[in-house]
Amino acid sequence: MQTLREKLEQSSRFLIGTELVSVRGGMSEQSAVKARTFANQLVESPDIDWISITDNAGGNPQLAPTALGKPILYAGKEVVIHLTCKDLNRNGLESEAWLLHSEGFNNILAMTGDYPVAGNGGSAKPVFDIDSVGLIAMLEQMNRGLDPHEARGGVARPRFERTNFLVGAVTTNFKLREGEVMPQYAKLAAKVAGGARFIINQIGFDARKQSELLAYMAAHGMGGVPLIGNVYLLSPRVVALFHAGRIPGVVVTRELHDLCVKHAASPDGGRAFFREFAAKQIAVYRGLGFRGVYLGGVHNFEATQGILELARTFARDDWKQFACEIQFSRPGEFFYYAQDAATGLADPQRRADAPAPRSGHVGPIYRLSKWTHTLMFTPDRALSRLGAKLCAGAGDPMQGPRPLRVVEHLSKAALFRCHDCGDCSLPEIAYLCPESQCAKNQRNGPCGGTRDGRCEVDGYGDCIWLRAYERLKHDRREHELLSHAPVVQNQALRGTSSWANHWLGRDHAARRPATENSK
Ligand code: SF4
Repeated sequence: MQTLREKLEQSSRFLIGTELVSVRGGMSEQSAVKARTFANQLVESPDIDWISITDNAGGNPQLAPTALGKPILYAGKEVVIHLTCKDLNRNGLESEAWLLHSEGFNNILAMTGDYPVAGNGGSAKPVFDIDSVGLIAMLEQMNRGLDPHEARGGVARPRFERTNFLVGAVTTNFKLREGEVMPQYAKLAAKVAGGARFIINQIGFDARKQSELLAYMAAHGMGGVPLIGNVYLLSPRVVALFHAGRIPGVVVTRELHDLCVKHAASPDGGRAFFREFAAKQIAVYRGLGFRGVYLGGVHNFEATQGILELARTFARDDWKQFACEIQFSRPGEFFYYAQDAATGLADPQRRADAPAPRSGHVGPIYRLSKWTHTLMFTPDRALSRLGAKLCAGAGDPMQGPRPLRVVEHLSKAALFRCHDCGDCSLPEIAYLCPESQCAKNQRNGPCGGTRDGRCEVDGYGDCIWLRAYERLKHDRREHELLSHAPVVQNQALRGTSSWANHWLGRDHAARRPATENSK
């Protein structure tokens, strides 16, 4: 039996993965029995290459994916376990990864995860100690033979047995604004550079954006990474949820919504239409050159089979017509590439007209921050040397001289709503604090949840990564966003002086290659 890695690397077959959503309760719960029956049928099907099992999907507590995964794995089917950063800190994630390795699960889909929305006795406290980029980096270290010394910036010497994880990641470009799309592309590059070996895109209904993703990856050194298309079986209930923006990052436009509502009024409640729509999406992904599809929203084998059989009935070039039909973007939506007039898809030879840079997020605080940072933290400048000397000689070098610490604390609290994490990411996010202004403390790019530029979590306003991109674009430095090694925050520095930590080489910036810090 070929592994998923072998299928991706050695075959040219168009692959089919199916999502199995975990359930709340134990294995004998009725919903779990239903999920297991579905899984057993998928195991038997030669059409299905792997089964992907969710991790507390939608931020709800559910049975751990390994419980459902074990019988599937032991029956000889490839399993992809979803691993997210919302409920576990880095130690919990490492522990989970060792468990997966020990149990024989080698395929992991590494994600930041949905913001927790439920929990026993009230909503759970979100963790987000690291993010998807940090998680991918950790799994890659485990594949090399984890050495804790390496994580502290030293030279790696394998200390623990090597794992054999095939790590996948997700991405999305189904976004409205340039400041959402471009940071997503930058984060995708960071995931690939960090060790992601296959990519699944977010649920979306626009063939132009799908073709753009493929073209962007090819043009930016990611062409060799298998790209899997996300196909979600819609239903009237799901369409209403997606259209209302209830699932972060998933968009059903007014036009698609109305089309679905029209078909939902038919005697079969739209069943045939929705299945055909899913089958057409499979055809489009195959025609565009994706390596396979990831089938979600399907909860029984009969529907799975029905969609796959329908997809097989299409003629070779039918996908081109379907690609013209399935283009549900929003008015004013940003595209990186211009549209090919003949196909309606991305034309990789031409950039789309870029909108004028917005300056809404550029103000005196940003300008002052840039000036002060250059003055105080440029290596080998007088103030940087002086700061290091004063902090090293202070009674408590973790805090630095008291008057300086007071100035740091007051100024950063007033300007950035600083939470005193001690391992500052302000310079990498155009002087926006991820601790106080990002619901998921994302230090390596945006999560996938923005809604028209706004944070998926109410009360946070515009996403900090959109604001950072717009600030940098205003300075014509947008290409610098995420051009650094993954940031993994050191929680031991919390409550200490980030200035002292920077000057004395204790923060994450000190663990980077020297070439990066001298930029
Ligand atoms: S601010 Fe952006 S990256 Fe942070 S949680 Fe909100 S949408 Fe995600």
